[in-house]
Order: sequence, then structure tokens, then C-alpha cells
Amino acid sequence: MSALLSLANTTLDLAELDREVAVVVLLDAEGRIVWVNAAWHRFANENNGSSLLDRFSVGQRYLDGISGPLVAHFETVFEEVLRTGEAYEQDYECSSPDLFRLHHVRVLPIRSDGLLVEHSLRESRPHEEGFKGADESDYRDERGLVLQCSNCRRVHRVGDGWQWVREWVATPLASTTHGLCAPCAAFYFEHTRRSRQRARTLAGEDP
Ligand SMILES: [Zn+2]
Repeated sequence: MSALLSLANTTLDLAELDREVAVVVLLDAEGRIVWVNAAWHRFANENNGSSLLDRFSVGQRYLDGISGPLVAHFETVFEEVLRTGEAYEQDYECSSPDLFRLHHVRVLPIRSDGLLVEHSLRESRPHEEGFKGADESDYRDERGLVLQCSNCRRVHRVGDGWQWVREWVATPLASTTHGLCAPCAAFYFEHTRRSRQRARTLAGEDP
């Protein structure tokens, strides 16, 4: 627990963070979870708790609990926040089968000792219109795989667009793999491109 003590020796008030409505996770400089607040436990219990608690428990690398292309994005973000001391924030969709939920994440540096990751809810409402009566075979590619967007959780209909299919968010189909749909990819790749460019500029190289 020395990492926690080292983080707690800054100006963090853990009792105050525990009263936060937002989910707060503290990471050491290597990205391992050193502390989570009470709101995190509430969120986990309301959303398929045991699997979330296994994936994001103290001592684990936070990004090991995430799958798909978002890992590389957040590796870049964490590295950048620690290096520059500047906070990062973005909105992201994290919907359940029944609710459209828009969350906001902030990644804040704790000196260069670690990171405070805060997730807060911005919007929550029932889904407008899920795609009903989807035929599974329309979503399997020639290898039999179903592609789901890691970010918005819509599934790719082969030769068509991306659709929200409620029952497949609740219970993913067998052989589901993860990628990013075009709008989500545009957002993440643009961020990564900008931050690489900035890193090169800071290093004194030509962009
Ligand atoms: Zn998407």
C-alpha cells in the first residue's frame, strides 16, 4: 500500500473523495489501481458487479480491465497527463441495455506520482429506439465474427451501418470482437494524432 500512502501524502482528502457522487479511481504512475471510492462500489454493484470488481480491483492495472482499441487511446492519455501535468477530459457513451448514458471522464495528475480518474454521469434516459428483430446472420462476417464498437456498443451489420441491438448489449453474441465505428474512431484517432504531434513538437522535432 505504499503507493496509496505516497498518493495520500499529497493533498488528497480520501474521506472527501469517498463522499463524491462521481466514481473516483486513484492510479499509481504505472497505472495500477491503488484506491477506489464508495461510488465505484455502488456503480459496480448496479452494473454486473462481480465481473467489474474482478477487473478493476486494487493492484490491477486499470487498462487491463478495458478491451479493444480504447486501451491504446487511454495509454496515450495517461502518459500525456503524467508528462505534461495537464488534465484531460472527454464525454463518452456508456449505455446499459435499457438506458442511454453519457458519462464524462477527467484524468488529473497527482504531481508525477499518479493519476486521479473521475467518471461522472452527464445524461441518463431510456433508449429512443433499439433495433428490433435483428437477424444474427446479418451481423456475422465471413469468419462468423460479430463486430461491436468498444465505445458506443453498437454492432456492425455486414455491408450496412452500425445498430443498437438491446439484447446483444445485455448478452453479447458468441464470437463478438471489438473495434470502433466510424464516428467513434474519428474522435479517438484524431486525439491520438494530435497528442503525438504535440509530443514531437515538445521534443523539438518537426511535426
Ligand atoms: Zn461507436
